[in-house]
Amino acid sequence: MGSLSDNFRSIKPYVPGEQPRDTERIKLNTNENPYPPTPMTARELGRLDPSAFNLYPDPEASELTEAIAAYHGLQPENVFAGVGSDDVLANCFMAFFNSGRPILFPDITYAFYEVWADLFKIKYEKVPLDGELRIVKDDYLRENGGIIFPNPNAPTGICMGLDDIRAIAEYNSDVVVIVDEAYIDFGGETALELLKEYGNLIITRTFSKSRSMAGMRIGYALAGEELILQLKKIKNSYNSYTMSSAAIKLGAAAMADEEYFRSTIEKIKRTRESAAQRLRELGFHLTNSESNFLFASHKKISAKKIFEELKKRRIYVRYFDKPRIDNYIRITVGTDAEMDALIDALTRILEDEK
Ligand SMILES: *Cc1c(COP(=O)(O)O)cnc(C)c1O
Repeated sequence: MGSLSDNFRSIKPYVPGEQPRDTERIKLNTNENPYPPTPMTARELGRLDPSAFNLYPDPEASELTEAIAAYHGLQPENVFAGVGSDDVLANCFMAFFNSGRPILFPDITYAFYEVWADLFKIKYEKVPLDGELRIVKDDYLRENGGIIFPNPNAPTGICMGLDDIRAIAEYNSDVVVIVDEAYIDFGGETALELLKEYGNLIITRTFSKSRSMAGMRIGYALAGEELILQLKKIKNSYNSYTMSSAAIKLGAAAMADEEYFRSTIEKIKRTRESAAQRLRELGFHLTNSESNFLFASHKKISAKKIFEELKKRRIYVRYFDKPRIDNYIRITVGTDAEMDALIDALTRILEDEK
């Protein structure tokens, strides 16, 4: 006889950053937006009618996909919405990476790609970033079963130019190329204009970072109609009612407030630049991050030690114990006050090391 555990799936899951319950802390570890979402969401929340919660939500999330399509100047047929971009990306993996050939993604990137590839038994090759932690376009111009990378990349924050993305989409016309634009609102050039030219291209976006709605779980994919139909096919083979009626309404309302959205992003970009400057003055080396986080290492004190010392002071940043990046910390850009507290703490930690 076997044992019960023989029936279990062996897999190494994605490890998300901590969500401390403690309110007296500074949380710069999961790239959330420090500002609340647009007041439009509060207004919409007030209008929600709980007596309608007896009904299933619209499986197409039409109100939301229409708002997203209008915002990007596309048709609803070009939009697929899901429970955060993690849900959308998982559907993409199931829908598009089925050739049997290995898919390609960077060796240093969003850790979930590898987890999904394992979960769905998709072969993959991790393509090394160059010495300065940049994605090298030419490494993706070869036979493969599909390609995915974030732009800007995470956790480096470094952007890839549109010409490089075009070259990758062009060369790989026989496979699906996914550009994960989780952070594109904070910097870099979107690949949106390439969608018309390349039927093999998918762009994914999230409400979790630039739209301050991580708790609502809203993400989406933009692509030609054929790929969107494939995504719907997969979703409807697994779970048709993914998004709650509340998320659909609040997401649609949030798309309407461009002015608030822009002003929040501008604040974060300003804070990012001033914090980067002060970290450099403290002797940190930083990648050229165009996202809502900074990726920093220090010659005199290990990233692991900094991470632990900050945590003692209830400041949470992210540390990845992984080859090539185990001497970096990733710091989400918070409010100016939060960054002041971080810089103060780092100044003390560095002084104690002397
Ligand atoms: C945060 C993040 C996601 C997932 O975002 P959700 O919409 O919250 O699921 C996807 N890709 C990258 C690169 C991210 O950093």
